[in-house]
Amino acid sequence: MASIFGHVAASTAIGYAFFPRQVRSATLLTAGFLAFSPDLDVLAFRFGVPYGSEWGHRGWTHSLVFAFVFGLLTAWLFYRKQQDFLKIAFFFILSTMSHPLLDMMTNGGRGCALWWPFSTERIFFPFRPIQVSPMSVGAFISDWGLTVLASEFFWIGVPALILVVFAKSLRAIRP
Ligand SMILES: [Zn+2]
Repeated sequence: MASIFGHVAASTAIGYAFFPRQVRSATLLTAGFLAFSPDLDVLAFRFGVPYGSEWGHRGWTHSLVFAFVFGLLTAWLFYRKQQDFLKIAFFFILSTMSHPLLDMMTNGGRGCALWWPFSTERIFFPFRPIQVSPMSVGAFISDWGLTVLASEFFWIGVPALILVVFAKSLRAIRP
């Protein structure tokens, strides 16, 4: 996993960069939750599901299919009557999808089952600069946590900010 901060930074940037009209506190909070939600799969460890299982950590919840279905379903549950439902759905799907894509750039753990259920192979990107985050809050409050935050600030925070500023300036030129 990247940390909750890294994932929420990504969904927030996606919102401001691509869906400025859909950004409000409720949609940002929901997108933030969705961006983090694939890691709720760590609960599977409690039930004895091994890491390598497709039902374990970085398994099925870290797939494009999960992101599409869960993002769409959440938008449908709360926003289906809104005129911009499709845009909100797209915002939510991309936010959920950002999670495995970021995890695939971390330098530890197993890869993500991105293509589940078509393939259970665990994959990474060839470029993995992000320091992997510990799985427990206890372990996060340490030097490891600080290293993670510094790494995410550089590899997620800064690119996210550049994306938002770039998208805003493009809109200013061609509103
Ligand atoms: Zn994850």
